[in-house]
Amino acid sequence: MKKPNVINFHITDACNYSCRYCFANFKMQDLPLADAKRVVDSIVTYFRENGIADGRINIAGGEPLLYRRLDAVIDYIVEKGVKVSIITNGSRLTEERIAAWSDKVSMIGISVDAITPAAEVRIGRCDGCEQVNTVEHLTKMASAIRKAGIRLKINTVVSKINLDEDMLSLYRAVKPDRLKLIYLHVVRYANEWPDTMDLIPTLGEYHAFIEKNRYEDECELVCEGPTDMENSYFMINPHGEVYINCLGIEKKYGNCIYEPLSQIFERLPFDAKKFSLRYEEEV
Ligand code: SF4
Repeated sequence: MKKPNVINFHITDACNYSCRYCFANFKMQDLPLADAKRVVDSIVTYFRENGIADGRINIAGGEPLLYRRLDAVIDYIVEKGVKVSIITNGSRLTEERIAAWSDKVSMIGISVDAITPAAEVRIGRCDGCEQVNTVEHLTKMASAIRKAGIRLKINTVVSKINLDEDMLSLYRAVKPDRLKLIYLHVVRYANEWPDTMDLIPTLGEYHAFIEKNRYEDECELVCEGPTDMENSYFMINPHGEVYINCLGIEKKYGNCIYEPLSQIFERLPFDAKKFSLRYEEEV
């Protein structure tokens, strides 16, 4: 069985946005650097023990750019000879920061669900003052990412709110290397709130969105349907706890600060085939 070579480390649950479907509810604001390093050590040991030479740590959140020690953690991972990627809402990206990551970060994933401010605000993709990511900002950041030699991924969650958004114009402007169109997942004990359930599109609406916004110009398009996340998306939260989405329910399987990750993975109901589809070619 193929062993996971991409590990999602949700380093903080703090975020300046408040998306209605957000999963980040670990109730922990700021992870001490020593603990973040312990989680990294655990992942690196797992890669080494399993002969995984192309291992990558995908730093997510919350919003990882709000985590004050992010650069120290990136440097620590790079020192260990492991690849790093970052998933961000893009609001705190700057050209300077991206340039500084040029030799360190292999991919930056930006989550963008809408281009009209009204839709972004309805989704909750805005700060407390309803400031949203503009297309101009995203285009500028995309160009800085390319200039730095970093791959760009765009994630879009398809919901009732963005069905009529012209996302194709954005994809054409930012030219991602990889585009993921994600059916809004609801996971029990994570984001199963009435406010989220109202946003779930029908399968027909999801497929119509894909057809309308299909962008494949030198870009790998990945469509993540309603059940693709089950048993293939696992993550480590800011406490070092390992969770997997098991048949629509978020379940905890152990803590990698106190127990080797390899041992925890033996208990994980992990679907290697789905995992490969999720991360193949992603660098
Ligand atoms: S930007 Fe991401 S972490 Fe922040 S609220 Fe939205 S989904 Fe959650």
